[in-house]
Amino acid sequence: MLVNVEKLLEKSANLHTHLCPRQVLGVRMGLFGGQILDLPVPQKNKRMFVFMETDGCGADGVSIATGCWIGKRTMRVVDFGKMAATFVDSLTEQAIRVIPLATARKRAWDYAPSASDRWSAQLSAYQQMPDEELFTYQYVTLAVSLRYILSRHGYRVNCEICGEEIMNEREIIREETVMCQFCAGSCYYSIKEQESKK
Ligand SMILES: [Zn+2]
Ligand SMILES: [Zn+2]
Repeated sequence: MLVNVEKLLEKSANLHTHLCPRQVLGVRMGLFGGQILDLPVPQKNKRMFVFMETDGCGADGVSIATGCWIGKRTMRVVDFGKMAATFVDSLTEQAIRVIPLATARKRAWDYAPSASDRWSAQLSAYQQMPDEELFTYQYVTLAVSLRYILSRHGYRVNCEICGEEIMNEREIIREETVMCQFCAGSCYYSIKEQESKK
C-alpha cells in the first residue's frame, strides 16, 4: 500500500509541480474511499463517483487516487470549504462520507518528530499514519439524484431563446419553451450589453 501511495504522490506532484500535505491527504482519502466501498482504485471505469467538498490540491489528490475526475464526469465539487468527500458506488448507490480527523494535524509530529516545521511534519506524517488516525467516516444517503447528475450521454438541446446548446438535461422547460438557466433567470452572471459581441 505504501508503494502505491508513493507512486500516486509522484503523479500528483507532477500535476502540481509541488507536493503538499493536502495532496497527500487527498490521495490517502481516495484510497480509503475505494477500500471501504470495496472498489479497485484508481478505477478504469466510471463506477465510483465522488462529491468533493472543496476544490484545490486535496481534490486533485482524490482524483489521482480514485480515477474520478471532473473531466470524466465522475467527480463533482460541492463547495463547502471542507476537506471531506463522499464516495459513491453508482451501481449499488452505497455512499460513504470520509472526513479527516481534527486530531491528525497534531498527531503529525509524532510521526515526524525531526521535521523542521509543521508543514513538513504533515507532509511526511500523512504518508505514514494509519487510516484510522487520519479519517473517520459515515454512511450517508444522497439528497441529490445521481441519475440527474450523470444524465444521458450525448443528450443535447438548444435554448429556444438564446440559441446556445445545453447538455446533460440542464434545460428548463417553461410553458413548453426550452430554455437555458440564464434565459430562465437563474444565473451566476449578467451581461454587460455595450461591450458584448452579439
Ligand atoms: Zn498544494
Ligand atoms: Zn438561453
